[in-house]
Amino acid sequence: MEEKKAKKTVRQGRLNFASDEKVHPWLSMLLEAYYLADKGIAEALKAEARKGRRPACAKGCSHCCKTHQTIPVYPIELVGLSWYVTEKINGPERGVIKTQLNNYEENDPCPFLVEGACSVHPLRPVSCRQFNVFNKPCAEGEDPYYTRREDVLTPIRKYTDRAFFIMLPFYGIRSEAERWKIIESGAVHHVVKLMQTCNWKSLAEKMEEFDSKMMDDK
Ligand code: SF4
Ligand code: SF4
Repeated sequence: MEEKKAKKTVRQGRLNFASDEKVHPWLSMLLEAYYLADKGIAEALKAEARKGRRPACAKGCSHCCKTHQTIPVYPIELVGLSWYVTEKINGPERGVIKTQLNNYEENDPCPFLVEGACSVHPLRPVSCRQFNVFNKPCAEGEDPYYTRREDVLTPIRKYTDRAFFIMLPFYGIRSEAERWKIIESGAVHHVVKLMQTCNWKSLAEKMEEFDSKMMDDK
């Protein structure tokens, strides 16, 4: 019954991890925020398509994940990534990710990039979702945000703001007025980190602990 009820309240097109969301209330916030961010991206891409601009981004194109040096990530997103790789990724990919996290050195390729694809695609951060490039694919080592800003999609602000609005209770900010104030002032970005400077080794340890516990429980 509960499961059915939870499914009914989830909007169509929004990722749904019903049983995990019951255990982790922050996960519903995050998935709702990603749903809105994705909606905003789709709308922005449609507007660009009307001007005849199509994204150069395509499956297998991953220079951005290898060489971009300033990919922003917010604490709730780090919790989401941590949960996803620890509890949801299995098989050979899990071992590859664990090794990459363990060996990670600052400015290495993103530790979640496996064989040219994003292994955390459903839980990838807003910044990865929004980064769409027009005209031509990024050259190796190029970050078009700095080299040709006009070729990088500009997200529609109302969707991004709304996504942050939904995530702010994770940081203990519940009042709606306070949340809008924090968004409008830009203070919402004070907690941002960079993917390239996170302590990924600690996530490898967390995965290891989870795996040991699973073995013990068998
Ligand atoms: S951002 Fe650049 S490297 Fe990444 S998928 Fe798009 S074109 Fe390819
Ligand atoms: S999280 Fe995924 S999309 Fe983002 S940089 Fe890493 S591999 Fe690329």
